[in-house]
Amino acid sequence: MIPNPPTYASALQNPIFKLIGQTADNMETEAYVIGGFVRDYLMQRNTPKDIDVVAIGSGIDLAQRVAARLSGNPSVQVFKNFGTAMVKTPGLEVEFVGARKESYQRHSRKPAVENGSLKDDQLRRDFTINAMALSLNEKTFGQLLDPFNGLSDLESKILRTPTNPNITFSDDPLRMMRAVRFATQLGFKISEEAYAAIEQNHNRLDIISRERIVDELHKILLSPKPSVGFLLLEKTGLLQHFLPELIALKGIEEIEGQRHKDNFYHTFEVVDNIAKYTDDLWLRWAALLHDIGKAPTKKFQEPIGWTFHGHEFVGSKMVYKLFKRLKMPLNEKMKFVQKMVLLSSRPIALSNDGVTDSAVRRLIFDAGEDIDSLMTLCEADITTKNPNRFQKYHDNFRMVRQKIEEVEARDHVRNFQPPVSGEQIMETFGIGPCREVGQIKDAIKEAILDGKIPNENQAAHEMMLKLGEKLGLQKVH
Ligand code: ATP
Ligand code: MG
Repeated sequence: MIPNPPTYASALQNPIFKLIGQTADNMETEAYVIGGFVRDYLMQRNTPKDIDVVAIGSGIDLAQRVAARLSGNPSVQVFKNFGTAMVKTPGLEVEFVGARKESYQRHSRKPAVENGSLKDDQLRRDFTINAMALSLNEKTFGQLLDPFNGLSDLESKILRTPTNPNITFSDDPLRMMRAVRFATQLGFKISEEAYAAIEQNHNRLDIISRERIVDELHKILLSPKPSVGFLLLEKTGLLQHFLPELIALKGIEEIEGQRHKDNFYHTFEVVDNIAKYTDDLWLRWAALLHDIGKAPTKKFQEPIGWTFHGHEFVGSKMVYKLFKRLKMPLNEKMKFVQKMVLLSSRPIALSNDGVTDSAVRRLIFDAGEDIDSLMTLCEADITTKNPNRFQKYHDNFRMVRQKIEEVEARDHVRNFQPPVSGEQIMETFGIGPCREVGQIKDAIKEAILDGKIPNENQAAHEMMLKLGEKLGLQKVH
């Protein structure tokens, strides 16, 4: 006798599940919740806000009937081309799809689709842990349908494909990125067969849009320990397809007994460090890219040894090209990453030179609102394995942070506003916009940052008059 499948009705307490099941019963069809929701419930992760439902037959039909029975007139978005429909209720999005069988052409990740059974639909999914379904029909409510042993893979923390991984990954190469992403997010291992198939198929990633790749990359970057993902991406051959700049950092060279550190592995240590302190995706990006300028600037110079002169500047220029290539937004987020890369060595230089007030003022002025993020990046950049040095560097940064607070409390340069404006200068000397106005403004700003005058109106006004006189301007007001 076949034993009854295990039942997880407790996963389905949201009343929408009963409603979907009853609606399917009325239509004399079957409906299941499938994929991430089932996996996350069984892993006791946070309950997802997006739910995937598969219907035997038309997913769109089921969606429309369910929406009609829901209070509050929820919207139904129909994607006819995909045969899917999305019902949005407050706090919950349910995507409906008809069970399907897929067959792929080699050049595209858009399959030819025909109606199929539940098992066909489970077979087309990426991993066995994502292929588990719970029945929603009344008679079988909560029963687990798990033809590929996802539950046992979930317990062994293993990512296995429901069918031959060479076919799964070649059909839709995005799944290779998803494998690495889930391995990183969930702390799972990729099965040996699947891993070998990724190594074999990594070139297929080139048919995937940059946006899709970046979506997965962001999930990897936002994981608790992103290095797991990046090391997998590198070892399998995937990384070179979208972040060759990182691969260029790999390796240690030795000349005349002098070695430099391997900036590739160093980078991932920095990313893991920063992940402990911030969930800010863009600050994590900054950590990932903070050293990319080191590959093109690396030189061996007698008698100093290895140098990377200007790598921060070169790196910040590379950020733009990289974002552009990956079709990422070229907006203030990118500018933030550029700024972090550009300034990434400044606090270190500061703590080496002894902290003068004027150097701190300049740093606060240049970093502005992002000074805290910059300090977080620099602290994450400490990856020395020597415990004494580790302690010393952290102590130095603690001092720099303290100094930043003191100087900022006194001088307010974080959101620097010129204490005399261009208009005031023009009015005082009865002149129009001209070079002298800029010169005076600039000299006042420099004097404040150097600590020659305080950041106050009166001092700035006096200085303006003196500078005007020197430039041969007449005071008229
Ligand atoms: P999360 O929402 O946490 O990213 P998820 O597993 O729910 O994880 P979705 O992208 O929401 O991922 O996809 C929902 C389900 O659809 C997956 O669980 C999986 O069964 C299936 N799926 C998604 N993308 C693919 C794909 N590229 N190939 C095969 N199946 C996929
Ligand atoms: Mg999901």
